[in-house]
Amino acid sequence: MSTVHQPEKLHFQAEVTQLLDIVVHSLYSNKEIFLRELISNASDASDKLRFEALSDPALYETDAELKIQVSFDEKARTITISDNGIGMSRDEVVENLGTIAKSGTRDFLARLTGDQKKDAHLVGQFGVGFYSSFIIADKVTVNTRRAGLTQEHGVSWESAGKGDYTIANIEKLTRGTDVILHIKEGEDEFLNDWRLRSIITKYSDHINLPIMMHKMIGADEKEPATNETEWEVANRATALWVLPKNTITDEQYKEQYKHIAHDFEDPLIWGHNQVEGGSLDYISLLYIPSKAPFDLWQHQHQRGLKLYVQRVFIMDKVEQFMPNYLRFVRGVVDTNALPLNISREILQDNATMTKLRNALVKRVLDMLDKLSKDNPEKYAIFWTQFGNALKEGPAEDFTHRERIAKLLRFSSTHLDSPAQTVSFEEYVARMKPEQKKIYFMTAETFNAAKASPHLEIFRKNNIEVLLLSDRIDEWLVGHLSEFEGKPLQSVAKGDVNLDEIGGEEDKAGKEEQKKQEEQVKEEFSGIIQRVKDVLGEQVKEVRISHRLTSSPSCLVADENDMGMQLQRLLKAAGQDVAEIKPIFELNPTHALVNLLRDEKDMERFKEWAQILFDQALLAEGGQLKEPALFVQRMNKLLLELVK
Ligand code: ADP
Ligand code: MG
Repeated sequence: MSTVHQPEKLHFQAEVTQLLDIVVHSLYSNKEIFLRELISNASDASDKLRFEALSDPALYETDAELKIQVSFDEKARTITISDNGIGMSRDEVVENLGTIAKSGTRDFLARLTGDQKKDAHLVGQFGVGFYSSFIIADKVTVNTRRAGLTQEHGVSWESAGKGDYTIANIEKLTRGTDVILHIKEGEDEFLNDWRLRSIITKYSDHINLPIMMHKMIGADEKEPATNETEWEVANRATALWVLPKNTITDEQYKEQYKHIAHDFEDPLIWGHNQVEGGSLDYISLLYIPSKAPFDLWQHQHQRGLKLYVQRVFIMDKVEQFMPNYLRFVRGVVDTNALPLNISREILQDNATMTKLRNALVKRVLDMLDKLSKDNPEKYAIFWTQFGNALKEGPAEDFTHRERIAKLLRFSSTHLDSPAQTVSFEEYVARMKPEQKKIYFMTAETFNAAKASPHLEIFRKNNIEVLLLSDRIDEWLVGHLSEFEGKPLQSVAKGDVNLDEIGGEEDKAGKEEQKKQEEQVKEEFSGIIQRVKDVLGEQVKEVRISHRLTSSPSCLVADENDMGMQLQRLLKAAGQDVAEIKPIFELNPTHALVNLLRDEKDMERFKEWAQILFDQALLAEGGQLKEPALFVQRMNKLLLELVK
């Protein structure tokens, strides 16, 4: 630890300066949140101390009564928020107030638009935190001392929020942190007892800690006490989740969420359960945010719930409570079923933990199930934000696979828009009587899926196909082979069995069709072999297609081979994928294929065959090995038409 005594001037990390600027400018219309953020930090600091003191009671020094004090000085134009929580060492101050440790910060900043309204939302998702002080202050002083360090190891940090700050060692008698805001010209409304109290009630009533303000004196109660010794509690200071559910308002639930999740926006929904008595004693308050956090898709995304044991905060971001596919869930678990001295290591394989986790996952799935039934519009919001995370579920959580499958939503040929709103249940209800499988098509984009030649026979027979074009979809269908006994079948894999599809034709019609198919096979057997000779290593097999009506050709993956879309994804992700050759199918009713059949000139036959193959690859969303050659071939044939 450094021992510099004179003030030192340091620069903020570039990202901090940028973020500060954005916070100040985009949150201008929501100034009062600075107090919520600072109280929230003070409360977190107290929680941390309480936890560390479980194993080291000396940290309390002589003062075990944790509290937050808010005061103001009209003449000096300052507001001070003090806590006797964990405090910070010099290194921690530099780390916490001078840098942003969050991964993905640079990407996040790059996404900002310059439009203050839009940016306000983004910044909210990012978490505004301590820097919101600068919305109303033109200078901020932080005096702090880490619990456990001696009085001369206090630190004073000061900044005008303009690129640099000073840091100096000071003597600080009490442990914890004082944040002193020097209020900007024109922000005098906050130098007011009533105003501060009402902000506290609005945002911080249920911080698990007393927030003290000076007692008011005098008949008009406009002036704070001058002797500044008498304090009174300005909030309710009980954790919200322990109160009877019917006494809690929606507003209170929302404010609790903002504190727990460090989010700026209201949650989408929440579920509050108090399970007392019985073998597993716990309270859970679980929230689904209305927006995905900016880093949900980043590997280092910090997830998990807050753990309290017997009302005492134990730790934040306990991952073990939620599987990865539910990583967007925020909230609190307060239980009597775990010991107070539990550590992260013990949480790893603790039987009670497993039970709790199971119970909580069920709660979340129930909550989502209910939302999908009661409020499809809200569920659609959920799906847009977190659907792709939920799609990881069937692979990750075998036990709840059926329940997760019910919550999935897809685009479909049944809809005109790309909206993902069709559930398996809905699909199954629309299935034809003879239809046994749930059909789907995967492609790079919705449009590619929708326009795929593979859908032609299904369209003709009026059979719905789910259109999957999110990257995760290949992974999903790889781990979800059926829904309620109905197998999932890719329309781009294997052969199409019309019996199974149950087309319009009657039985006799089908027999007739079978006969015809045999005939066609005969008729084309010669050219099938020739095409195979021409294409050689490019294909696994060439055959007559039963799935095409208007396209001349298409590519199909063999039943047990990896789908072509998945091959492309894996390659794009830099994985070594062994080349899997496709099956090339030709539509015998197509004029171009008939042209090919009747072509006597071997050179021309080769050109045609290659063009039909390249076209099929393009329609698949694939890439040609030699696009220039394809264009040359096309042009040559086109010119012959003109002659
Ligand atoms: P967040 O609370 O989301 O972590 P903030 O910007 O609000 O982000 O705070 C940054 C960090 O500064 C906190 O994580 C904490 O480590 C530290 N910090 C802020 N206020 C206090 C405080 N009153 N006591 C101790 N540490 C604090
Ligand atoms: Mg904070």
